[in-house]
Parts: sequence; structure tokens; C-alpha cells
Amino acid sequence: MKHGSPCSRRRAEQRLPPHSCALFEKGPHGDQIVSGLLPDHGGRMATARSPCNPQSTVDLGAQYITRTPHYAKKHQSFYDELLAHGILKPLTSPIEGMVMKEGDCNFVAPQGLSSIVKHYLKESGAEVSFRHRVTQINLRNDKWEVSEERGSPERFDIVVLTMPVPQILQLRGDIANLISECQRQQLESVRYSSRYALGLFYEAGTKIDVPWAGQYITSNPCTRFISIDNKKRNIESSEVGPSLVVHTTVPFAVTYLEHSTEDVQELIYQQLESILPGLPQPVVTKCQKWRYSQSSNPGWVYRIPPPVPTPTDWSWLPEAMRWEGCCGHFWAQWEGTPQSISDGCQKLARGVTPII
Ligand SMILES: Cc1cc2nc3c(=O)[nH]c(=O)nc-3n(C[C@H](O)[C@H](O)[C@H](O)COP(=O)(O)OP(=O)(O)OC[C@H]3O[C@@H](n4cnc5c(N)ncnc54)[C@H](O)[C@@H]3O)c2cc1C
Repeated sequence: MKHGSPCSRRRAEQRLPPHSCALFEKGPHGDQIVSGLLPDHGGRMATARSPCNPQSTVDLGAQYITRTPHYAKKHQSFYDELLAHGILKPLTSPIEGMVMKEGDCNFVAPQGLSSIVKHYLKESGAEVSFRHRVTQINLRNDKWEVSEERGSPERFDIVVLTMPVPQILQLRGDIANLISECQRQQLESVRYSSRYALGLFYEAGTKIDVPWAGQYITSNPCTRFISIDNKKRNIESSEVGPSLVVHTTVPFAVTYLEHSTEDVQELIYQQLESILPGLPQPVVTKCQKWRYSQSSNPGWVYRIPPPVPTPTDWSWLPEAMRWEGCCGHFWAQWEGTPQSISDGCQKLARGVTPII
């Protein structure tokens, strides 16, 4: 981990990406060190690259960002910025079976949805470390000591966790005792669906002859969604082959959650061929299990008391979500808000960052 510039923490606070497990630390000379802990870019906004051609990509998790009318104004700067940088573009390709509410607007990311996360990490100025799996969080002299699978523990002033709630509950150390029984019960009640995603990469010049860019499927026990991913993003090139993604239904994923990825991939592919007979052979495939895919519970932010109580304004949170009492330096947030997911993530991130 390296020292950031003196202003790096401030910038990171302003631009903390929603997708991070972020740790903030004070440097020995008053400088601020900022570090994010992620095993990869993007989290559930994952974009896979073909090993044969890195320009060929496929979104394995989130597919598009929905802007609701209510948040079009509130989060205008977010959308304006991403549109200005070409990171988001309006979704114009046909997605069959998509349920659209009045006033909603959908956006795709031409470089893949992980480019949103990459953009914010870059803008934050933070030094980012990847592939650190946090296993324990303990309190040591008013600091949070974070242990990981490999490497020695490190101490931080502030910890913000944004991983799915069940993964927060798996963390060991003092954090487990700092979560009250009542909070634990509420956190345990957060339910996630599971899904598999299968990404297929094709050779340049391959034609996938369907009139849509995406299709929601309601009549297949295995397949819920198919997208010709490059078409969804309006990218057609003679040098880069097309890519396709299949999302399974939740019941299929639950049934095969503990099976080998190879077996599951085979089953998904067989079903895909029955839906799209004559589909060309892919050159590369990538199967991704999403054990914690999406949550239907309302988004909450939890703070875990001490080590250092500070006056905090929680008025931005709806009253029902506020937890009275002393506030601390530990936040756990989750998505699945009644708004669209991206608007929910934005709202929570905007609420937490000024407090940090
Ligand atoms: C199949 C699928 C389809 C979706 N479709 C859409 C869509 O079309 N539109 C939409 O808006 N949303 C969609 N979503 C939801 C959207 O992707 C998520 O809501 C959003 O990405 C959540 O972001 P997050 O930062 O809260 O969590 P995550 O993206 O899950 O980020 C958490 C990060 O924490 C890391 N992590 C976990 N445990 C640890 C640990 N112990 N130590 C260190 N790091 C850890 C994870 O690896 C991950 O990188 C979809 C999700 C899935 C899975």
C-alpha cells in the first residue's frame, strides 16, 4: 500500500465508488492513505474479457442501468458525468420482454458495466489493492484492524463494507460481537437470489441471426435472459467477434448451486441451443456463479458503534432506516432499494461519503 497525496482522501470521499470495500488510513506524517479492497474491478458489475481478444467483452452481472424519473434530477450529475465521458450511453437496442415503467430510461456501458467502477476508482485518486479477501475485523486502540486471507493485518480509521450482507455476517473478529442481536436478525433476514451467468465469445465475423439484442424468457426452467452483448451495447465490428450472455432462472441456480461449474455450464448451454437452434460454436466460454445476486430488501446503511463516537447527521436516511444511538466508524450498506439499483447505490454512497 502506498501513500496517497494529501488531497487523495478528500477526493476519494467525494468520489467513493459504490462498488468497494474501502479502508481509510491516516499516514505517519498526516498524509492520508486510501486503499480499497476488491478481489476484482466491478463486483457484480463484472465485465469478462475474451482471452483470445481482450476487446471482446461481455457483462456477466448487471446488464443496464435504469434511471427513474425521480432520480433523473437528484442524481443528474452522476448521469451527466458518465454520459459526458461516454461511459454510459442510452440503451437503444431492442430488449424483448423488458418491463419498462413510465419515465424510466435505461443506459448501457459501451466498454462494459465494470467501466463505471473503474471510472470512479480512477477519479477518486485512491490507491487500490485488489484480490484481498477480508476475513476478520477487530478493534485495536481505537482503530479497525483488518485481517485478510493472506498477508498481515492492517489498521484503518474507517471501514466501509459494501459486500452482500451474508458475506458481512461471515466476517470474524470483534465485528461479530459489535453487531447487536437485533441488528443481526435484521441483517439475516436480507434475502438474495442466486443466478448463474454464462458468457460466450465468438470469432470475428460470426453472425448471430436474431432480431433482438436481448430477450427475457419466461417459459424455460433454466434460462431467464439472453443478450447478444455487443449488440446491446451497439458495438458491431469486423475485427471483434460477438459475445453473448445467458442468465439462468433463480430456481435453476438454487438447484445447481453446489454442482461443478463445468456440469452447470453444459446444462445451460444445452438449454440455450434448444432456444436458439443453429447457434454458432463459441471459441471461449465463461461461467459465473452469483451466489448473492440481487436482494429484494430495502437498502439500509448500518453503522456499528465506537471506537470514536462523532456527531453525525443521519437525516438523509428515511426515518424508518435510522438507528438511534451513538454512531461510529463502521458502515455496512446494501442495495436492493425500492428505487432502481443504481439510484439506490448512489443514494447510499452519497449519504455515507460526507460523513466519512
Ligand atoms: C446476474 C446479475 C444481474 C444484475 N442485473 C442488474 C441490472 O441489469 N441493473 C442493475 O442496476 N443492477 C443489476 N444487478 C445488481 C448490481 O450488479 C448490484 O446491485 C451492484 O453491482 C451491487 O454493487 P455493490 O458494490 O453493492 O456490491 P458488489 O458489486 O457485489 O461489490 C462487492 C465487492 O466486495 C467484494 N467482496 C466480497 N466479500 C469480500 C471480502 N471478504 N473481502 C474483500 N472483498 C470482498 C466482492 O468481490 C465485490 O467485488 C445485477 C446483479 C447480478 C448478479
